[in-house]
Amino acid sequence: MGLRIYYGGTFDPVHMGHLAIARAARDQLQVAVRLLPAADPPHRAAPGADAAQRLAMLALAIGDEPGLLLDRRELDRAERTPGVPSYTVDTLRELRAELGPRQPIAWLVGADSLLALPSWHQWASLFDLAHFIVADRPGSPLADTLDPVLAQALDGRWASHERELFNAPAGRLLRLQAPLREESATAVRAQIAAGGPWQSLLPEPVAGYILDHRLYGATPS
Ligand code: ATP
Repeated sequence: MGLRIYYGGTFDPVHMGHLAIARAARDQLQVAVRLLPAADPPHRAAPGADAAQRLAMLALAIGDEPGLLLDRRELDRAERTPGVPSYTVDTLRELRAELGPRQPIAWLVGADSLLALPSWHQWASLFDLAHFIVADRPGSPLADTLDPVLAQALDGRWASHERELFNAPAGRLLRLQAPLREESATAVRAQIAAGGPWQSLLPEPVAGYILDHRLYGATPS
């Protein structure tokens, strides 16, 4: 059975670092990567761009590039159940119900997200539902001392070959082979607001969208 890779994020906005790791996962595992924007948090104003704008920017970033797909299930779920927060564990349960217990599923994250895993809703269930593919990220070393609770949860899960992710439905961890990427959405938003150079951090059509919609305080020159 093939592997399904999902890549969740806020993508506020999607930047070249996101695209680089999605492409690296696609190329290393030789399967499509499905990018899955998070819904807006309930009862709170959208932090930067709203869900529809973040989705539109992702669609522009992906274009018709082979092996990169958009999955809008978290936004659809938020529309069906307004006011209910959207958790990764719920998305993975939805995928399991749809794809069956034997389907190998992997969730792609940056190292900062893996280090924060113990703060995720029902995090202990996540490894029963999916594999994790981890991209290194500046400032989030995976080799140094880990939170002992996390270290215990990760113990024995590291895969030494991609094949291991195809041979089990969930529970393995794979290190993505990809150069470090400095981009972060927080830094992009800060650069835009400060009027510094930012367009090279983003796919060109996304930069155009931000200017057209004057997102994050952007002003066309
Ligand atoms: P912010 O700076 O606002 O936290 P972000 O750049 O981390 O945003 P998200 O949409 O929150 O973007 O990230 C989605 C996923 O992509 C997360 O798992 C995050 O760790 C990962 N990610 C984002 N940027 C990078 C990067 N430069 N290198 C590796 N992983 C990244």
